[in-house]
Amino acid sequence: MKRIIQDLDYNSICALMQSLGEPKFRAKQLFIGLSQGKSISKISVLGAGLKAKLLEEFEDAPLEIVKTLKSADGTEKYLFRLADGNIIEGVLMKYKYGNTQCVSTQVGCRMGCKFCASTLGGRVRDLTSGEILSQVLLVNSLHAEGKQRGVTNVVLMGSGEPLDNYENVVNFLKNVTAADGINISARNISLSTCGLADKMRLLAEEGIPVNLTVSLHSTTDAERARTMPVANKWKIAEILRACEYYFSKTGRRYIFEYALIDGENCDVKHAEELVELLKGKPCHINLIRLNEVKERSLAAADEKQAYRFLGLLQKGGLSATLRRRTGADIGGACGQLRASFLDT
Ligand code: SAH
Repeated sequence: MKRIIQDLDYNSICALMQSLGEPKFRAKQLFIGLSQGKSISKISVLGAGLKAKLLEEFEDAPLEIVKTLKSADGTEKYLFRLADGNIIEGVLMKYKYGNTQCVSTQVGCRMGCKFCASTLGGRVRDLTSGEILSQVLLVNSLHAEGKQRGVTNVVLMGSGEPLDNYENVVNFLKNVTAADGINISARNISLSTCGLADKMRLLAEEGIPVNLTVSLHSTTDAERARTMPVANKWKIAEILRACEYYFSKTGRRYIFEYALIDGENCDVKHAEELVELLKGKPCHINLIRLNEVKERSLAAADEKQAYRFLGLLQKGGLSATLRRRTGADIGGACGQLRASFLDT
């Protein structure tokens, strides 16, 4: 595979063009073209000679869309093919306030959560920052109308564990929030982690105050370890301390994801334990009924159970909401589409 030009920030593009003997305005033209989601060969203001030189060293496009699925609720799911042939997926969810794109950070995942389809084949490789950024640039270009941005919010909740690909993910965050690029505000970006507490602390130091989301899904370490092997390495108490540190550094309230799994984590006892664990903390809990994955035997809690659980948390003084499951008719859950694509 050649290099990915979207890995470069504006200053590096300027240095590159200087090394090729090109004037500075060419760097700007190239950077703007890339920020508009164009492949090198489609940036028409650049001359054929320059494009040929660039294409010797760089991939024309780091990824292309090979399949789009549209849900009745407006959600769109994409399968992307990377330059080396690997497949990743992404989702665009449409809300009143804007469009939220869910990006992948790795091909597959090695965290091994039992409810998740992304981890079925293990981790294949990390994505580079430019491969993550290109998911946003490409989908943004498809949905941009006039000067309106097609993507207003980004969530790092596709395949992969973002903090297991730390350097590339941080570079992506720098580039996607850069004022001279697509310039999405850190406040409109959420990074979700299964709880790599050491990396959560590092992220707190980066000066990019994205919303931090932790996939909790259980109330005790022992129960958590049944579905999330990472619980053997990082205890809930350590994760909570890292969350508090993140809050102290960024001033951002943190969020917990809690997928309701029938017979596993949504009894009255669990609600009480969750209240005990989180009361008084500057956090919010996102409940979601499990998206059932055919390769896994876990079942979703029913709606009645879910609303009972929500009510108990709210009664206990926690800020909590039950998320609707978008795109359930198109394999909305993490990794489902890629898994079914690789199957066929
Ligand atoms: N690796 C990161 C981000 C990717 S997953 C993390 O663990 O947070 C994004 C979210 O979807 C996580 O909260 C994950 O636990 C959740 N998830 C995965 N599979 C799911 C399923 N089948 N149903 C509901 N949520 C699921």
